[in-house]
Amino acid sequence: MEYIDIFITSFKDYARYVGNEVFNPHWGNYLYWLIGISIFFYALELTMPWRKDQPKIRKDFWLDAFYMFFNFFLFSLVGYYAISNVFVELFNDFLGLFGIENLVAIEINTWPVWTQLLTLFILRDFIHWNVHRLLHTVPALWEFHKVHHSVEQMGFAAHLRFHWMETIVYRTIEYIPLAMIGFGIQEFLLVHLFALAIGHFNHSNILVPLGPFKYIFNNPQMHIWHHAKHIPSKTGVNFGISLSIWDYIFGTNYIPKDGRDEPLGFDDMDKFPSELKDQLIYGFKRRKEK
Ligand SMILES: [Zn+2]
Ligand SMILES: [Zn+2]
Repeated sequence: MEYIDIFITSFKDYARYVGNEVFNPHWGNYLYWLIGISIFFYALELTMPWRKDQPKIRKDFWLDAFYMFFNFFLFSLVGYYAISNVFVELFNDFLGLFGIENLVAIEINTWPVWTQLLTLFILRDFIHWNVHRLLHTVPALWEFHKVHHSVEQMGFAAHLRFHWMETIVYRTIEYIPLAMIGFGIQEFLLVHLFALAIGHFNHSNILVPLGPFKYIFNNPQMHIWHHAKHIPSKTGVNFGISLSIWDYIFGTNYIPKDGRDEPLGFDDMDKFPSELKDQLIYGFKRRKEK
């Protein structure tokens, strides 16, 4: 009963939160930051495109625009937030059976705010880099991750084109390590927005020479090779999300030449569904047909 209550309350809380976000623009408003950051990168794509002959409204532009709002916003509304609150409560109760009150191993909330944010950003990005590798190496997870790799013309909005199962996989895996340093499922706005902006940047059709910073930050010239159809490794290259440094440290970096016009996707692209409704359930039933 207690869990059902948490589910219903969380669901109502989130519905109220979303309603508030839509009707009250303010500085902490994710929806308007998403719109603002998207317009910023789209404006750059229009004024200084890397692939000059790519259509301004590229293939799947509107599909990806829908994915942006669905993955960033609506998916949480239709239950993820509520389910994860129940999961957290269940997990805490489970720990309680062993007399563990909380998971915090290092109290970082006594540190200066900027070091907390930097730690959260770097740690979270490293966890995500590892999860991203798993999405490429575990066959069942790759089926879900194909949605992201089905992009044929690259642009900023492709950043948030991914299967909703990815949200569940990322959040589940990051939960315990983040809880150990005292971060819950509520994240810091600043870290989240910074990661959102870099993610949009990586997928944008723009050329911004980063100089030596390319060894630290992911960028369109590196990430295009992550989406390239023809690469030497079967399990992928350039897994970086916000930071490219992990790929340089662990030797998974790969930029053989200018990848501006590389064909994107994967081998059996023709069998991949082009419609949203089929993509949402992809990875569950398709596997049996093989
Ligand atoms: Zn990938
Ligand atoms: Zn990508």
